Amino acid sequence: MRFQEDKNILEAMKYIRRQNELYYNRTGRKKLAMITTYGCQMNVHDSEKLRGMLNYMGYADTENKENADLIIYNTCCVREHAEERVYGNVGALYSLKQERPDLIIGICGCMMQQEGMAENVARRFPFVDIIFGTHNLHSFPELLLKALQSNNTVVEILNDDRNIVEGVPINRAKGVSAWVTIMYGCNNFCSYCIVPHVRGREKSRSREDILSEIRDIARNGYKEITLLGQNVNSYGKDLHGNYLFSDLLVDIDKIEGIDRVRFMTSHPKDLSDELIKAMASCKKVCEHLHLPVQSGSNNILSKMNRKYTREQYLDLIARVRKSVPDIAITTDIIVGFPGETEQDFQDTLDLVRTVKFDSAFTFMYSPRQGTRAAKMKDQIDKDVKKQRLNELLEVQNFITGQKNSVFKNRIVEVLVEGTSKNDPNCLSGRTRTNKLVNFKGSPELIGKLAHVKVTNPKCWTLEGEAISEEV
Ligand code: SF4
Repeated sequence: MRFQEDKNILEAMKYIRRQNELYYNRTGRKKLAMITTYGCQMNVHDSEKLRGMLNYMGYADTENKENADLIIYNTCCVREHAEERVYGNVGALYSLKQERPDLIIGICGCMMQQEGMAENVARRFPFVDIIFGTHNLHSFPELLLKALQSNNTVVEILNDDRNIVEGVPINRAKGVSAWVTIMYGCNNFCSYCIVPHVRGREKSRSREDILSEIRDIARNGYKEITLLGQNVNSYGKDLHGNYLFSDLLVDIDKIEGIDRVRFMTSHPKDLSDELIKAMASCKKVCEHLHLPVQSGSNNILSKMNRKYTREQYLDLIARVRKSVPDIAITTDIIVGFPGETEQDFQDTLDLVRTVKFDSAFTFMYSPRQGTRAAKMKDQIDKDVKKQRLNELLEVQNFITGQKNSVFKNRIVEVLVEGTSKNDPNCLSGRTRTNKLVNFKGSPELIGKLAHVKVTNPKCWTLEGEAISEEV
């Protein structure tokens, strides 16, 4: 279904836009919207769509809730911490809403998609105006119109039996990189993960829609794209099954104007030989693979329902490295999963030392309501989890430092994103292997590829100086 074909949504957008124009004519001030995003890149990209719709309706962006006319929290339920922050932040808006009853407050995203959550939030925070989930993001204009015309909380949570809605306006973050969602949902049901429960089953976008979006991104000057999905490796299996992720990479590789292609997240069980071949042969596909292993123990992998063994994972890494030499491999690891023994944890450390990941996102297991693992016996004591996490971090940091040290005096290709966050006199960008490089060079390099000589490799970043203008 195409967004532009839904008459109700289009009418709602036009109506709100007209009202906002009249407001501007009266006051000389544009209405302002603030979006706060929690969680993963999928959510960040969803917020780009919300911003696209809001801009079309005449709202300008603000990062300041004091002057915002509309505030949206795009929530995440993957980590407990993010949920607590949402509650805190929404609660803190109460006094603002008292002062300015016209302020519109919305909450959306996967936290709202959890069973009973939307009703719970509506009860706890009755001053919230709109609550919606992940499957009806595109209906936001209609819900906003209802909220503007009503004094009650508008709640609409749909299940995932709907088709993908194409053509939602997107206001992408400025810069060199753009996100492109290629599929939604996940079929894997890892026992600790809430995603399949809130994002639904796998749904792939059509080849034509994806390629046309990327051509458009290229025309708008972006140099790098990151293909997004909970499990991009299984792209296409829900369509006809004869056009898969490897085929998509080959087609994207031909698009003029894009220099680099990245993708995330990959599931080891779906990383096929065809995909490895495509990664090796497609010049624009970067030499970086994020391949979450989660644990190095077969016992824990089985309890996690990951559907591969440590031996299969190690074999996969060997095959990837054989086909794509010098590829950077990063991962996610959970420590303290229910029933994890000291031996299981040692198996994880052993796997980390064997693979030598370039870096790892490491987490202490925390139960998510609604998942199988939350009901498992033998939950691990928090102190034990902390101790294991620290031990793991120490091992991984040492490896990351070692891996970065070999870059000393090497010349790397950097896509220059802007000035460094820590030093405005330095530029910042990433190598094809996704290493962050801060370096001295002309600001004219921003947005371009540059050659940089690494002078000081550190644990988290490489420091250097530009040795050539544009590559
Ligand atoms: S692959 Fe597993 S961890 Fe990843 S989104 Fe799906 S269920 Fe969650």
